[in-house]
Amino acid sequence: MREVPSPPYASSVSEARLVDFLANTTDIVSFYDQDFRLTHCSTKLKSSHDRAVVEGATLWEIYQNVDTRLIDKFDQVLHGGAPIHVDLQRSLGAAPRSAVVFGAANGIGIVESRKTVQGGRTLAEEQEHIMLLHQATHDALTGLQNRRGFSERLQQALSAADGLKETTALLQIDLDEFKAVNDTLGHGTGDMLLQLAAGRIRDALQDGEFAYRLAGDEFAVILSGKPQPAEAERLAGSLIGAFKAPFVINDIPVFVGASIGIAFGPEHATETEQLMKAADIALYAAKKEGRGCARIFNRSMLLLLEQRENLRRSLRMALERGELFLEYQPLVRPPSSVVGFEALLRWRHPEVGIIPPNVFIPIAEADGLMDEIGRWVIEEACRQAIRWPSSLTVAVNLSPAQFLSGSLTDTVAQIIDAVGIRADRLELEITETVLLEQTIDNIDILNTLNVLGIRISLDDFGTYYSSLSYLKNFPFDTLKIDQYFIRDLETCQKSQTIVRSIIGLAHGLGISVTAEGVETPGQARWLIQEQCDYLQGHFLGRPLGGDATQDFIRRSHPEEVRSGKEENRAF
Ligand code: C2E
Ligand code: MG
Ligand code: MG
Repeated sequence: MREVPSPPYASSVSEARLVDFLANTTDIVSFYDQDFRLTHCSTKLKSSHDRAVVEGATLWEIYQNVDTRLIDKFDQVLHGGAPIHVDLQRSLGAAPRSAVVFGAANGIGIVESRKTVQGGRTLAEEQEHIMLLHQATHDALTGLQNRRGFSERLQQALSAADGLKETTALLQIDLDEFKAVNDTLGHGTGDMLLQLAAGRIRDALQDGEFAYRLAGDEFAVILSGKPQPAEAERLAGSLIGAFKAPFVINDIPVFVGASIGIAFGPEHATETEQLMKAADIALYAAKKEGRGCARIFNRSMLLLLEQRENLRRSLRMALERGELFLEYQPLVRPPSSVVGFEALLRWRHPEVGIIPPNVFIPIAEADGLMDEIGRWVIEEACRQAIRWPSSLTVAVNLSPAQFLSGSLTDTVAQIIDAVGIRADRLELEITETVLLEQTIDNIDILNTLNVLGIRISLDDFGTYYSSLSYLKNFPFDTLKIDQYFIRDLETCQKSQTIVRSIIGLAHGLGISVTAEGVETPGQARWLIQEQCDYLQGHFLGRPLGGDATQDFIRRSHPEEVRSGKEENRAF
């Protein structure tokens, strides 16, 4: 995500100076957000107004009788137009005063003209000065205060907290899955999402709570002088709740949750950097515990972070050191024919032992290693499968990073060629996260793979968007129903109805269905009765190493192994 830099010319200007300026200037200055609601104003505006001026009041409440032609002009200024001179009336019956309306970060500013202007400046210079003060501390995209304002406020709060033993709470907020939205729906949508997200954060705040955009999809809120942890927990709860509903952007519902890390000063740190670090560690713990939740910092989280850092460092070497390997889990056509295997990646860490993919793949993705690892997985799986009877397929999971790399189809074609395996023996599993939008690119990639003869399955169906438009627009061969619906199949009528409907829907579209995570004979019986095409799960067979898979095949396909129907008789 593109960061919004502070204007370089304003680098010496600080939030404190803007606050100081607004408190002391004799000018009548006010700032409004995109909805023309008051965000800041000078003390002079408050004292010269005949009614209470509060943050959130509309421009029409501050200035009376603003005619609609002016609103159009304000709109132009809001969208980057040049400053305009207008006549505005502060209270009914009073004479209109001329004012300059200028663009500010994600909103507009108004300064009323006076006969004498402070410091001998002209009105234009004064307006420029005010605009720079505002821009330097605000994020142009969301209108929230930026990192500069944040650091200052946090420092102030902590030094006050230090002396008075008053608690400052810092909430670090990070949007879940924002990167996927930005990568797949484009930066325009990403920007709109950030604006809407900032709005939801702003709406959740109460008095004495201040929100900031720190970078990309990172936001923060500072609370000072409130009873803690109760107030921070209350705010975190309302923020998480506020992110449960989808953001509707260009008619597409986009689900983006929020994870929150909370730290308290002076309890966890007395310096800004350390408090931010503590909140960040808590945020990481929240992400790790399934996202969409909040966690308060505690010292044991440091251990978790250290482990992750160690993992990150050793993961870079894991591939070349031969520590990554694949296990293969049978895919069964009822009642009992093994038709292929799904390749599942594992990492044999020299000290930690076997690490499951859910732990290290996200790290590999974040570090840009997944493209290379993914390529290795496809090749390794094909090399293994070529030793099996030629009727057996191998399924490989693709991560979004591979799909987005731009070279997937070439890589796959090269591997098939080099290994000499029939294309229809390779199946690629993708999840819906990869397909957030039906971009031409996505459809092209899938169609090219399809033309090559490779099968494509939609993994974990039912857990994410489960958008039916994917089924209409993408050439899937198989749909894999997530274990979530299989787990309680024997007792839960709703799961039964959902699974039955998915099977009917897929079959109606000519797509076959695999049930994942089948663990009991009862689940298998029910699925077979409902015409589910393939079963996968511990009941049918756990993932096995390469050699154990060969033994399994010798037992399950003795005829084919004996008659040499492997594509390449390497064993
Ligand atoms: P997945 O593709 O949905 O794989 C199925 C997961 O369910 C595997 O976990 C498998 O071991 C587990 N499983 C299978 N049957 C049962 C069962 O009866 N009960 C239970 N409780 N679990 C069962 P695993 O191997 O930990 O993989 C987790 C996820 O990691 C995979 O989910 C897949 O999304 C990802 N993954 C695995 N290997 C790769 C890979 O090579 N590349 C990429 N990009 N992702 C991979
Ligand atoms: Mg899979
Ligand atoms: Mg799955």
